Amino acid sequence: MELIRTVDGMQAHADEARRAGETLALVPTMGALHDGHLALVRAARQRADHVTVSIFVNPTQFAPDEDFDEYPRHLEQDMAALDTVGGVDVVFAPPVEEMYPDGQQAQRVWVDVEELDQHLCGRYRPGHFRGVLTVVMKLFQACKPHLGVFGKKDAQQYLLLRRMAHDLAMDVEVVGVPTVRETDGLAQSSRNRYLTPDERAQAVVLSRAVQAARKRILGGEQRPTAIVEAVRHELAQAPDAKVQYAELVDTTTLAPVSELEAGQEVLAAVAVYFGDTRLIDNAFVQVPAAP
Ligand code: AMP
Repeated sequence: MELIRTVDGMQAHADEARRAGETLALVPTMGALHDGHLALVRAARQRADHVTVSIFVNPTQFAPDEDFDEYPRHLEQDMAALDTVGGVDVVFAPPVEEMYPDGQQAQRVWVDVEELDQHLCGRYRPGHFRGVLTVVMKLFQACKPHLGVFGKKDAQQYLLLRRMAHDLAMDVEVVGVPTVRETDGLAQSSRNRYLTPDERAQAVVLSRAVQAARKRILGGEQRPTAIVEAVRHELAQAPDAKVQYAELVDTTTLAPVSELEAGQEVLAAVAVYFGDTRLIDNAFVQVPAAP
C-alpha cells in the first residue's frame, strides 16, 4: 500500500496503472474510517484491479459553523485499518494546499447543482453539495478511476454524484454500496463518536424510523402522509431527538412525493440532532404493484 500526497504523483501512478490495463476504483473518504468505509473498499476490490482510497477532509463542504476543525484526523490509524482489510493499492491523502493550490477563496469554477440540492440535507446545508461535487470532480481528475464507490448512507450525495457523472458525460461509473450498521441498526458514522451513551442508545430511532417507512410501503400503504407520520412516530420515541427533516422523496427529483406509483423508487430520509451531533439515515424502497 503506497501513500501518495500530491496530485501530480497520483496522476502519474494512475496513468501507469491504466497503461498496464488495470481497472481503477476510487473510494473517496474523509478518514476516521469505520466498517462502513471498509465495506466500500471491499466492494471496490470486487469490481476493480486497482483500488485507491482517498482521505481528505474537504474544507469547501463545511459551513463556517460546522465541525471542519474538530473533524477527527488519524491517518496512521486509518492506514492500519486499511492494511487489515487488504487489497488497497494507494492511499491518496493530499494536504489542503494540494487540492486548493491557490487557496479555496481563489477557486472560481465549481460543480453546481440545480434544484436537487434544494431538498433534504441540501436545504439546510447551503453550498455543501457544491463543495462535495467539486472535490469529487477534483479527486476523479487526480486518481483517474473507472469507478467511484460511495455509500448509500449519504443518499443525496450518492444520487447527486450519479447525476453529475450522467449530466457531465463523465467516463466514471458511480457505484452505491448499502449502509453498514451497528447490531442495533444505527448506521455507522464517524460522527457517532460524538454521542453520549444515552444519546447513542436513543439514536436507534433513526433506523427504526426509515424501516417503518419501508414496511408501510411494502405493506401497500399508498398515502405518503401516513408513511411520514409513521416515521415521525418512531423518531418521537427518543426524547432528546430534534428532527431536522423526515421526508419521503422521489429518487430522481428528490422532491417530496404526493402520490406513490407502482415501480417508482422512493427514499425515506431523516436528519436528527442529538445535542450538536447531526445524524442521517434513509431507506431506498421500490413501490410495489397495488394489491
Ligand atoms: P465520509 O468519510 O463520511 O465522507 O464517507 C466516505 C464514504 O463512506 C461516503 O461514500 C459515505 O457514504 C460512505 N459511508 C459512510 N458511512 C457509511 C456506512 N455506514 N455504510 C456505508 N457507507 C458509508
